[in-house]
Amino acid sequence: MVSTAATVKTLGERKVNWNGRSGGVNRRREPMAEREDIRSAWAEVLATASRTTADGLVVGTSGNVSARVGDLVLVTPSGIPYDRLGPGDVVAVDLAGRRVLGELPPTSELPMHLAVYRATDAGAVVHTHAVHATAVSTLVDELPPVHYLTGLLGGPVRVADYALYGTDELAANMLRALDGRSGCLLRNHGTVTYGAGLDQAYDRTAQLEWMCRLWLTASGVPGRVPSLLGPEQLAEAAEKLRGYGRSRG
Ligand SMILES: [Zn+2]
Repeated sequence: MVSTAATVKTLGERKVNWNGRSGGVNRRREPMAEREDIRSAWAEVLATASRTTADGLVVGTSGNVSARVGDLVLVTPSGIPYDRLGPGDVVAVDLAGRRVLGELPPTSELPMHLAVYRATDAGAVVHTHAVHATAVSTLVDELPPVHYLTGLLGGPVRVADYALYGTDELAANMLRALDGRSGCLLRNHGTVTYGAGLDQAYDRTAQLEWMCRLWLTASGVPGRVPSLLGPEQLAEAAEKLRGYGRSRG
């Protein structure tokens, strides 16, 4: 009886293993790429990446976009213009950075994207080299709160210390600057924002770039210093922004 049960169990395991292995690397990738959640998330990643170029937040292939689908992170590949990427070019990595889908190399800024997903509940991350935001990153340690939309990012936006692009050091500096915020500037480099989804992450980047342009415009008036919002005014605005969703006065 015992040996019969053991035989059945062994056969059962073998069957499971055989099925798993029979998928193989090549045959298992295709069904995953065909998953509807991955297909639609990848389409959104490409649309958002194209938007960063169209809206002038990045030039050429700089900047990158990612979205989380379960334990996978879909991320734009390195060095390929977004308009040349299609549905079949999906690049997915796990949270350790191992590529699980696609042939193209992930963005060199993968450490920053993964650091955000490991440390927060982010569903999407957008990184750009937006010109006004990058200019501000060279001037101050924190974007002065000139507008109540600062509340969208959790408070005054910090500038992360400089480190070489693509390094774990830069990712660590970024995480420190993101503490309690959903966006930060990277000194002499650009922006990082995250959100529940790509629309929110993108909107935060666009608002951050706009606020940087606003501050540069106001602070550039000779002999005048822009007025700033205080902590209570920012907290009040943040509360209202949360409560009213997209209504921003
Ligand atoms: Zn960059």
